[in-house]
Amino acid sequence: MFDLKGKVAVVTGGNGGIGLGMAQGLAAAGAQIVVAARNREKSRAAATEIERRGGTAIAIDVDVTSEASVDAMTKATMERLGRLDILVNNAGTNIRKPVHDLTLDEWRLVLDTNLTSAFLCSRAAYPAMKRAGGGKVINIGSMMSIFGAPFAPVYGASKGGIVQLTKSLATTWARDNIQVNAVLPGWIDTELTQKARREVPGLNEMVLRRTPAARWGVGEDMAGIAVFLASSASDFITGTAIPVDGGYSIQV
Ligand code: NDP
Repeated sequence: MFDLKGKVAVVTGGNGGIGLGMAQGLAAAGAQIVVAARNREKSRAAATEIERRGGTAIAIDVDVTSEASVDAMTKATMERLGRLDILVNNAGTNIRKPVHDLTLDEWRLVLDTNLTSAFLCSRAAYPAMKRAGGGKVINIGSMMSIFGAPFAPVYGASKGGIVQLTKSLATTWARDNIQVNAVLPGWIDTELTQKARREVPGLNEMVLRRTPAARWGVGEDMAGIAVFLASSASDFITGTAIPVDGGYSIQV
């Protein structure tokens, strides 16, 4: 039920953090991985790390904010691996400022990286999935898909948008046997949140106090949900947004 042998999975932002944790899970279940991000050296190192653990992975450059780059990445995946069954829209960024200090360029950069990217990558992957008779799209939301914070106005807008985009894609492509779901990670220890810890005073203490599991998540915590949502085990699940958060979102 969880076997992904013969499948190809593109993981945007798969060269570190949550993306790499998911990629490792998908690779362990048998999928061939495309690590798709901007930093080529980091992507190659991630692919090597996946192969060191017995998986199969290649690195393909992409800037998910660019339509041309996304289309080229999809084309390169088809040329090199011949199929595209699983797409993880994980690439993301944040600019932490109160809304009244945010410039329009900053707003656009975060929306383009976190939300428009999921539209571009999903649209580019659709023909291959349709032709193959099905596929899986996994979009990465956030606790900011549910909650608000003064330091995350545009990030929250982008991650709220991810949940609604997920529902639109899910309803549109259900008859093509393409399931589209979102994952809402809690607080995961990655480069992104290392930066957040430096920028938001008291964040570490708040996360430890408010998370029932009383710890930060790690990349490996995201592997199981990726395999589940990429496999036939989830064939009748679509349009959902599943928190993977150590209980953060269910405790006042
Ligand atoms: P990281 O900073 O480790 O990962 C971000 C990834 O996105 C990197 O691989 C980066 O690669 C890639 N990326 C950024 N911009 C672009 C771009 N324009 N084109 C292609 N790739 C890009 O952070 P996380 O692992 O924490 O974040 C991964 C996702 O998880 C994000 O969507 C984030 O919002 C989300 N998330 C994280 C949480 C956490 O607590 N850590 C909680 C909830 C959600 P490169 O720089 O090489 O391009």
